[in-house]
Amino acid sequence: LPSGGIERQAIEAGEVDAIVDYAGSNIIVLATARRALRRIAAVTNAQRDNDGPRVANAVLAALPREVYEQLAPGLEPVRLEFGQVLHEQGAAFRYVYFPIDCVVCLLAAADGKRTAATGVVGYEGMIGMSLVFGVEAAPVHVKVLAAGAAMRMPAERFRMELSRCPPLQRALYHYAYLELAQAIHMIACMSYARMEQRVASMILNIADRSKSRDVFLTHDCLAATFRVRRVSITLAAATLRARKLISYNRGAIRILNRQGLEAAACSCYKGQG
Ligand SMILES: [Zn+2]
Repeated sequence: LPSGGIERQAIEAGEVDAIVDYAGSNIIVLATARRALRRIAAVTNAQRDNDGPRVANAVLAALPREVYEQLAPGLEPVRLEFGQVLHEQGAAFRYVYFPIDCVVCLLAAADGKRTAATGVVGYEGMIGMSLVFGVEAAPVHVKVLAAGAAMRMPAERFRMELSRCPPLQRALYHYAYLELAQAIHMIACMSYARMEQRVASMILNIADRSKSRDVFLTHDCLAATFRVRRVSITLAAATLRARKLISYNRGAIRILNRQGLEAAACSCYKGQG
């Protein structure tokens, strides 16, 4: 560049970060920009070192690093929206999902139409567990109760990875037991727990998994999940509110007294402790 020219002046004034040399297919990053990039890289690396690898799903995070790196190319980040149906009863799973901060509800279908909640899945688990046992379809409805992020993997690829990856099998067998235990507790609660206990459990189950004290859940949604009339939910929620355990406004529920709400919850919540 000619000295004293306009380009040279701009460079000297620090207004230019890089020069693109089209003829030589070259990009020359100038010193100030290079320093800035190095600073950003240093900060990002320091964050990564402090937080460990950025895998927030417990099943994936428990895998040895080389196993995770083998799975990673098959994983795709997705955002799941409130109310989205991830799986219809009886259909084959097209994907498995590893939730990060979304929460889904497993609904057992009795006769194709009537369903009841048998489980809540978040960052601790996986959706599509029937594939772990070689079953393509499952008699569950899977619905998103709290929007958020997840990683998903095509079912075909998951089967292949599972067959060659004992650490993944072990992690998922362990989780399968937790999911089964939760279903047993929730079924017992259907018969024996009071509605306010069940509502308290559901709020805590969702709050824990979305790592927040705020839960978005309308009375209609809870009524559909528990297969009860809306008025039962409204009464249960009013009781919890009167005890100053929660507040709510148009489906926005906030936990005010966590210990109190835990004490009010039934065994499908406490049973996991
Ligand atoms: Zn319960």
